[in-house]
Amino acid sequence: MQIFRPRGTTDILPEEARKWQSIEEEIRNLCRIYGYGEIRTPVFEATDLFHRGVGETTDIVEKEMYTFLDKGNRSLTLRPEGTAPVARAYLENRLYAAPQPQKLYYIGPMFRHDRPQAGRYRQFHQFGVEIFGAEDPAADAEVITLAVEFFGRLGLTGLTLHLNSVGCPECRPVIREKLVGYFEALIWKCCPDCRIRLAKNPLRLLDCKEEHCREVGRGAPNPLECLCVECSAHFAQVRHYLDLLNIAYELNPRLVRGLDYYTKTAFEILIPGGGAQDAVGGGGRYDGLVGAIGGSPVPAVGFALGLERTLLLMKNKADPDAVAGPDAFVVLAGDTADAATRLVARLRGAGLATDRDYTGRSLKAQMKYAGKVGARYVVIVGEDELEGGNVALKDMETGRQTEVLLEEVVERLRRVLKK
Ligand code: AMP
Repeated sequence: MQIFRPRGTTDILPEEARKWQSIEEEIRNLCRIYGYGEIRTPVFEATDLFHRGVGETTDIVEKEMYTFLDKGNRSLTLRPEGTAPVARAYLENRLYAAPQPQKLYYIGPMFRHDRPQAGRYRQFHQFGVEIFGAEDPAADAEVITLAVEFFGRLGLTGLTLHLNSVGCPECRPVIREKLVGYFEALIWKCCPDCRIRLAKNPLRLLDCKEEHCREVGRGAPNPLECLCVECSAHFAQVRHYLDLLNIAYELNPRLVRGLDYYTKTAFEILIPGGGAQDAVGGGGRYDGLVGAIGGSPVPAVGFALGLERTLLLMKNKADPDAVAGPDAFVVLAGDTADAATRLVARLRGAGLATDRDYTGRSLKAQMKYAGKVGARYVVIVGEDELEGGNVALKDMETGRQTEVLLEEVVERLRRVLKK
């Protein structure tokens, strides 16, 4: 019986993979310009990391984790997000002892047991950045700017930036209390999840996706009006820097994000009209995270962007670099396998993208295939020509064919291809 890929996963085939590569190139280039170093952490971590670093009351921890016992009876979890692992690595590798701030980025697969649909998968990829050891609101503004510039460079306009502040351990209790006071009398109108949230994490009552819960939430107290002096000042500075850099945003007091470790700034980048899967990325400040996973508190800010959703947005756009076929395709005519094999090796050794036939098909069929894969030149290694030390070189653009000395074909191709 045939075996299929697990539900919610995708195969990225070569044509699609080229798009991934070009996005990844953009990411690496941008991160270099902004001064972030790449970090690669394991795909699985101790389950506890996510319980403590993401939060017990989040959807991720409550419902979506791929958790398993390994053969040593340790509970491990396929990482559902990148920030807690990076914070764990920051602590474990004593990056706090290096000059601060530490600016890190990652690209990699994440795993969540979500209900699969367009733009929502069980294995998906995120690009994220984190700055550890910077309290300055200018750091918040920097990561937001980086996210906005990333989408801008990909030519994705029309996204909107939503901005909020969720307070800190000083003002969060005030926000909580006001929200509980408001929702208590109305909670019977809300969904079962919201009834649990009221007790466990009332801030999340604000971001329920159920329409009738949102309706109830419309009259709720505005968290932005409950911020302490420090959080207010911080938020004002973040906004000031964004204004300074001409980055447009909308204030969204309902934006609370799913994760417990967020403090102060929270932001999301939304696709207008994107429906339930309307966020392409989000982030914020998480001054509580490093402390929550066992370190001394370190201020930190970052974001995670979804690459599948980014690619979906790019689908309508022209492919920036259309399929590049090989520089040369070596066609075998007659008993010339040895000469062709050597020639292919020499062409590749010279850095030319080269392919050849492996199916034993006719000369005509090989030529047709070379055309299909977009070869720029075809080198025909034929028995008769080879006796005179020659091969035929065909320019697939002009159709012109010339005889060239076998010894000179590599040099000739390098010259005409300027490689
Ligand atoms: P989050 O860590 O939940 O804030 O997610 C950040 C971004 O990752 C989202 O805005 C999405 O673009 C992407 N993302 C999150 N969950 C999924 C998923 N199940 N499938 C595809 N992309 C996702």
